[in-house]
Parts: sequence; structure tokens; C-alpha cells
Amino acid sequence: PVKRTETIQQQRTKLPVYSEEQQIMEAISENPVIVLSGETGSGKTTQIPQFLFEAGYGDPSSPNPGIIGITQPRRVAALSMAHRVSEELGNFGHTVSHQVRFDTNVSDDTRIKFMTEGVLLRELASDLLLTKYSVIITDEAHERSLNTDILLGVLSRVVRLRQKLSSENPEKTRPLKLIIMSATLRVDDFVKNTRLFQVPPPIINVQARQHSVRVHFNRRTPAPGQHLAEVIKKAGKVHQRLPDGGILIFLTGQAEIMYVCKKLREEFPTEAEREARKQEELARREQARQTKRKGGKQGGGYHAKATTVVPSANALEANVEDEDIDIGDYDMFNADGELQDDFTMDSESDSEEEDNIIVGGDDEEERRLLLSENIKGMPAKADAKGDGDKENANPAPLYVLPLYSLLPADQQLKVFAPPPPGMRLCVVATNVAETSITIPGIRYVIDTGLAKEKTYDAQTQVQSFEIGWTSQASSNQRMGRAGRTGPGHCYRIFSSAVFNDQFVKFSEPEIMRMPIEGVVLQMKAMNLDNVTNFPFPTPPNRSVLTRAERLLTWLGALDGKGHINDLGRLMSVFPVAPRFAKMLIVGQQHGCLPYVISIVAALSVGDPFIKEFNLDPDNISDAEIARLGFEDQVAASEARNMTNEEMAAKEQHRVSRRKYWNTQAKLAGTEPTSDVLKWLTVVGAFEYAGGTEAAAKEYYVRAKAMGEVRKLRGQLTNLVQMYCPGIDVAMDPRMPPPSKLQQSVIRQIVLAGFMDHVAVRGDIAGYQDPDEEANIKRRGMHAVPYITMWGSEPVYIHPESVAYIAARGSGSMPQTIVFAELQRTTRLWAKVVTIV
Ligand code: ADP
Ligand code: MG
Repeated sequence: PVKRTETIQQQRTKLPVYSEEQQIMEAISENPVIVLSGETGSGKTTQIPQFLFEAGYGDPSSPNPGIIGITQPRRVAALSMAHRVSEELGNFGHTVSHQVRFDTNVSDDTRIKFMTEGVLLRELASDLLLTKYSVIITDEAHERSLNTDILLGVLSRVVRLRQKLSSENPEKTRPLKLIIMSATLRVDDFVKNTRLFQVPPPIINVQARQHSVRVHFNRRTPAPGQHLAEVIKKAGKVHQRLPDGGILIFLTGQAEIMYVCKKLREEFPTEAEREARKQEELARREQARQTKRKGGKQGGGYHAKATTVVPSANALEANVEDEDIDIGDYDMFNADGELQDDFTMDSESDSEEEDNIIVGGDDEEERRLLLSENIKGMPAKADAKGDGDKENANPAPLYVLPLYSLLPADQQLKVFAPPPPGMRLCVVATNVAETSITIPGIRYVIDTGLAKEKTYDAQTQVQSFEIGWTSQASSNQRMGRAGRTGPGHCYRIFSSAVFNDQFVKFSEPEIMRMPIEGVVLQMKAMNLDNVTNFPFPTPPNRSVLTRAERLLTWLGALDGKGHINDLGRLMSVFPVAPRFAKMLIVGQQHGCLPYVISIVAALSVGDPFIKEFNLDPDNISDAEIARLGFEDQVAASEARNMTNEEMAAKEQHRVSRRKYWNTQAKLAGTEPTSDVLKWLTVVGAFEYAGGTEAAAKEYYVRAKAMGEVRKLRGQLTNLVQMYCPGIDVAMDPRMPPPSKLQQSVIRQIVLAGFMDHVAVRGDIAGYQDPDEEANIKRRGMHAVPYITMWGSEPVYIHPESVAYIAARGSGSMPQTIVFAELQRTTRLWAKVVTIV
């Protein structure tokens, strides 16, 4: 039997699903498929797997020996939930494992496995019957991620198949149970879709007590870029004026989160933070004194432009898995990588609230309580002046914690622990805290109303990440987080008019906004040939499916009848987009394979480079200075000796910018022809320099991204060895640079994967942009238009591309290019460009 600790047992009994155990387990044993809906925090994710475990699922000696699988759209949730359930299961904790793309602790003891949806989809490709499992739980189905939808379509068939096989030979095959879990009751697409489930699955709805939440809209919506300032101000006011209770802030991504955390910590430091800062300051002064004594001189020319507010360099972490999209800098910077003018912290905007609304809750008492609370103390005007006298006294500390996908697991788990005594918790999170993760003790929610979403235009095939208004449904979920443990408040940093007029009611299922050729290839590999008849919960447009099939046929993965062929099967074993798989397979000429593997790995992980605007000017080391040219060495050492700190910072910034661009030029090579080759160079150079944090710093790449590139290279190398007999390829992290011949072969291979991404310079294609001449005068060659094969809209080479360095050499922009990505901001940018 399971032995749980006293505390855990107590916490469990308070969860709404706990009292429903019997009803839920009965429904599961009587039905092949059930839908379980319940308010976030009611205990679905942590308890249902344990109910199943205690009912014998996963026990090799029971009638249901297969393990219990739980899928999550995000890996933060897969990791933290596995951790929690392991802890709750006490003496059976070791039977709980997780598996995400690059990380797993699955063992022979595993009975409960938390994984991302991608992991299960891959397993389906090699074992369509999912013979290892007796139950699959698809969690967070209300989010309607692309993978959830595909999984449900496939699983509905697997359930049927296992049922059939089991009725034929119960000894050999056991049925598979499917549990669809949702935080909302919006489950019609699953339940009423008879193509998906012929017999509609029963819905069990767990009732949870939701306390009332008072919603405060801003009277005015901050201008774009102003929302962070507004959030920081609001959090400060809540902290200083309102009774105890945790604060939860919803932002769109890691860069924003790091920035807001930093500002809040500066404003409301804990004892430890205050002390640390003091020590730092003392150390810095001491150092300055010492260098001065050694006879540094003062002054110098300061040509650096004033710097504005820029999130620190480490704010730019990798975005490596689909479920962890983090485009970080996108919103705050314009297409040329400059900080948007309006992204500053100091503007005063009017945050007066509108009349408030109280949502939910059953108690009249609660409502009165909420209304009587001192929230009148929040007018912005009085405050702008009134804060002055507070300045000197130390404000009460705030215990600020970030929460986003790529945060290390131990940091993520901090949000569940009670804050240090006497301190208020403030969690700054992405929408992972919307329904996947319930943070205890939250009473105040601050909602920017914004979310970062991958969008895709099937017509132009343009994929972009856009920060935009979330849906009303999501915003209401966010609000609900304030009412889990008692009545709460939700501050919406936008007006009710915006909420009513500009927020969609529900977001569209992701499948409607994604390129789906990878999915279609996986489906074909599972012999689900007729994709147009696939039981999608929400079927995508037929033309989108047809287009994906066309691309696959063109890449050589399908035969004329739309069936997968040997090449397609081979392509489907690689955990990368079909284009990249194609590059791997054609990449075997002239000893290019190790290079192509590295390129594909880098392209799959995503841009590894730190951008210039993320440079940290204060962090230039002696070693780095030693590598600079003479002039910059002088400037840097002068900068260090300046007494005027601000001047010194500016000068250092200038120096580090110089070093940054020198490095970029070096990586582009003497005859730059391709960004892909630059990426390849940096992969080799990074590994050659030891593959360390220091190496990453030297080459201005994100160490984390480079680590993932290395892992993926290893994985792809193994797959090539396994599936391409006769090919001998070994993984050597350090590669000698490719020869001239190899470089041109590589460019051909890139072309083979992206033949439909060719663009020709406007003048050659007969395209006339009426403003072209004026634009080129004003903006330089950035304004030279290119025409793609399919589009009527011109595209422009992104300013980061090495194509500009090449153009400087040749005096004109290249005639024909192939690009890996298109991104829309102020216009359509071709990124990761190769000159053909
Ligand atoms: P649901 O899936 O229905 O949203 P969960 O099972 O995720 O609910 O959460 C149930 C409860 O368990 C919540 O109150 C949550 O705060 C708590 N919880 C989850 N993970 C942890 C953890 N690592 N430490 C402490 N409490 C946790
Ligand atoms: Mg959950």
C-alpha cells in the first residue's frame, strides 16, 4: 500500500476530485473514453494518476499491466507534475517518471509517466497500439494545442483497435483507456464529434468552490510597450496597500518576466538582496579605488549613444521546443533590432480604474468583504506625488519568483513552497500559470491581457510569433487564479471596452494556425493515409491539408497516390521538420553529412545568436579586452578608470558593441554567402572553444541553445547510422571548417530543402516598388525588395543577414536567395538567407 506523509494526505483530502474518486474510477472502468472537466486546482493532474495507480493500473501482476501515461502541452508542467506526484506517492515515488524531448528518468520501475505530447506522438509512430500503456490521460485538452488534437484523433482509433483485439484475444491484448482532461466545460468538439468517438464519452464535471474575484479594469489601455511599466506600478501598489496574499502576474515571455522581476526586486528587496547589493557596491568602489591608485587616467571621448532600458543578456534564453516558444525580445524591439521608442519605464500613464465587477463566488458575505477593502487607495495622481516620503523608509520586501518553461526545474518548484515568513509572494509567469500549474495562496492577479502566439498564414506560408490580446476565456481563467483559496482581486491592465470589443471569446484551436506538413508526414508514417478523412476534433481546411501533401510529394516523401514511400518513412524517423529530414538524406555527398547534421540541428533549435541590443555592457572581462584591437583596449581601460560611472558605462558599451560586430563579421567568413554557413561556423567554433559558458559568451550565442544543438546532433547522427546503412558518420563536436567545394554543396543541400523558398531580386523579376528609390536612399539596401515564387507581396532580407556583408563586397544585392524563415513585423523579412 502507498504510504503518504501526514501533510500530503491532508492536502489531498481537501481537493475537490478527492471526494469524487469512486465516481471517477467507476466511469473509467465502465467506459473506454471519458472526459473529466474541473476548475484549475481541483486536483485533476496530481490525483487521477494516483487513483489509477492505487486501482492497480500499471502493476505488472494486475489485469491492467500497462503503464499510466499523462501528456502535457508544456514541459514545465510535465516536469513539475511528475515531481509532485512522485512526492505524493511516498514509498512509491520512484515509480513516477517524466519524459520530455531532451530529458527523461524513465526506468523499469516506471508505472506513471508524465510526458509532452510530442513524445507520445513519436512513440505512436513506432508502436501504434501503444502496447506499453493501459491508460492515456491527455491533460489540458481545453488548450487545443496542435498535438492534443492529433493525439485525440489517433488515440480514438487506438482505443477502438485495442478493444477489438482484446475481444478477440483477451489474454494477449488488454483494452486501452483514454481520459481527456479539461479545465473548462467547453468539450463539444470532443464529445459531439461522432467521427471522433462514435459513442459520445461521458463527461464528469468536478465541482470546485470558486471564491468571488473582483475585476478591476484600467480606465485606459496602456500604449503598446507601456504595459510593463503599468504592471510594475500596479504590483507595487497592491503590495504596499492591500492585505496579505500572493500576487500572480501574467506576461508573455521570458524577457519580460526577467525584466519585471528585476525591477520589483530592486524596488522591494528582501533583506538578503539588500545586503548583496550593498556588498557589490562596496566591492566595486574598492576596485575603482585600487585601479585609480595604479595610475589610470580620467576622461576621454564619449561617443556612445545613450542606452535605454534593455533586459539583461540572460533574458534571451532558448526557444527550443514547440511547447516552449519564447521569442523574448520581439515586442520591445523594432525590425531593425532597435529598442522601440515607447518602451521606457518612466512615463506616467493614467491607471485610474473603471467601475469594478465582481465575478463568481457564492457568498454574499464575501462580496461585502471585497467591496469594503481598501482599494480606493489606488488613484494614480495622488500617488505620483505621494510616494516621495516613502522613499527613505525601507519598503516591505517582496518575494519575487519567475515562472516560465525554460527555467531550471528546481527554480520552477519554488513557487509551490510557502514564501519566507512575513514576506509576500509575487510570481511573474507566462500563461503556464493559467491552467497547467496552480500556485497556492494567490489572492491578486495582474493580467496584461497579452499572450504570445505562433501564428501562421496558410496562404503566404508565413509563420510569425505575435504578441496580441489573449481570449476572453483565457483572461477569465487568469482571473480565476485569484479566487482559489479565498476571495481575491484581478487587475486587468486594459479597459473593459478593449476586453469586450477586441478580445475573441475563445482562441482558435492551434491546428488552424500551423504549418502541418510535419504532422501529415507523421500521420502517413502511421499509415493514416487519408488525412482529409482523419477524425480531427476540428478539421483543418482541406486546401491546407492538400498543400501539405503537395509539399511532401515534392520533397519526395510521398508517391503519386499520396502514400508514403521509403524516403518518406526514412524522413519520418528524424525528429525534425520534413524539409530538414530531406536535407539530411540528400546531405551525404562529398563528406558533407556532419555539416548538414549540424545545420539541421541548429535550424531546428532556432537562432542561437544573442542580439546586439542584449549585450551586457558591464560584463566585459580582462581576457576579452585583451582580444580587442589597440584602440579599443585603450578605450576599455579608460572606461574602467573613469570616476563618472555613467560615462564609463557608455564607453564600455561602445567597446562591447564593437567587439560584438567584429565577432559577427569573423563568423560570416571572408566571402560570406550564407547565414546557414555562419550558423555552422559558430557551432564548430563554439565546440572548438570548449563548448562552455565562456565559449558561448565569446561567440555571442546562448549556451543553452548550443547545448541543445549538440544533443540534437548526437541524436541525428545516431539515427543516420541506424537507418541509413552504409553511411559512416561519427559525431565529433569539433569539426574542421568545410572546404570551398563542400560549402557550395551545402548551399545546394539547403536549396533542396527550401526550393519553394527561393526569392529573386525585384528588378530582375520585373517588380517595381514605387517608393523603392526613396526608401533605398533613406534606409539603404534594406529596402531592396525580393519576389517569392508564390507571393505577390515583396519580402526583404533581414538586416541581420550576412547577405549585407556580401553586398558590400560585390557592390550590389544578390540576385537570387533562398531563405529558411519568413517573419512579419513592419514588413515581411526573409531570415537565415543563403545566396544561390
Ligand atoms: P488541476 O490539475 O485540477 O488544475 P492540480 O492537480 O494541478 O489541479 O493541483 C492540485 C493542488 O496541488 C493545487 O492546489 C496545487 O497548488 C497543488 N500542487 C501541485 N503541485 C505542487 C507542488 N509541487 N507542491 C505543492 N503543491 C502542489
Ligand atoms: Mg492540471
